[in-house]
Amino acid sequence: MKKEVRKVLGDTRRWVEQEKTWGGDYFATQAALEASPRASRDPLPMGEGKNLAVLPSPIGRGVGGEASSKAAALKALYAIYNTCTRCPLGFSRLNFVFGVGNPDARVMLIGEGPGYDEDHLGEPFIGRSGKLLDKMMEAIGLSRQTVYIANIVKCHPMINPQTPHERGNDRPPTPEESGTCSPILQQQIAVIQPKVILTLGSPSTKGILGTTEGISKIRGRLFPMPIQYFKVKEEGTDLFEKREADFAGFTREQLAPLEQILVLPTYHPAALLRNPTLKKDAWEDLKLLRKTIESN
Ligand code: URA
Repeated sequence: MKKEVRKVLGDTRRWVEQEKTWGGDYFATQAALEASPRASRDPLPMGEGKNLAVLPSPIGRGVGGEASSKAAALKALYAIYNTCTRCPLGFSRLNFVFGVGNPDARVMLIGEGPGYDEDHLGEPFIGRSGKLLDKMMEAIGLSRQTVYIANIVKCHPMINPQTPHERGNDRPPTPEESGTCSPILQQQIAVIQPKVILTLGSPSTKGILGTTEGISKIRGRLFPMPIQYFKVKEEGTDLFEKREADFAGFTREQLAPLEQILVLPTYHPAALLRNPTLKKDAWEDLKLLRKTIESN
């Protein structure tokens, strides 16, 4: 018993020390230290409004027709896919975790897949990693309301699918699960057409860029969106057409604007929680993200 108490005290002391140096406020502290006069005047330096999530705007790029909007397009996609059982994850999930944020976002964040908290509440990145992600966004003047957040897979990959109410029952998605789910993310990206996609961690970076390079090697650089990521279709197609497994793919014309997207890989917030010394590099990546948005 004494041994257990000593262990808890030791863990707590180590945690307090770590928080002092690399704690949850690391990004806010860095932002304050490096704040430009502009940043201190404008808490949302990217000029992104807080209410945009409820203000649909026309897509106007030939992917949905005149009367459509990005918000409506996302709603339509949600309606098509939220009952999906195309892979086994669909049978054990508690909630389909589609995505959240501003349909007109210039920045899209892509994680790996829902965990316990996300599965229970149906929203991506709301657990410990999500809290850190919020702070990271805030440090560069963005927020959950101004960016769009989604995952490679929309349902919770569990070690034991029989026990969805058990914590710590998480595993990475298999390549098959990611592949089966990919039409949903492809269509979300095509609707939102962000300027920059921040891939969080290895699975989403590998999934989007089709690379085998580890995240510590590839992070911190901007890559053009590989068009091979998207499923190509030669003849015309309609994004709003009801489709599931039979997702037809995009025409070359629809794909053209997607080639303008830049992909910026960085560490997953869970990795930053496990190894806080990585926050220094992650902060450099966030600054590059901010600079890229400001200059576009
Ligand atoms: N980790 C992810 O990659 N996505 C989430 O939504 C939550 C945790």
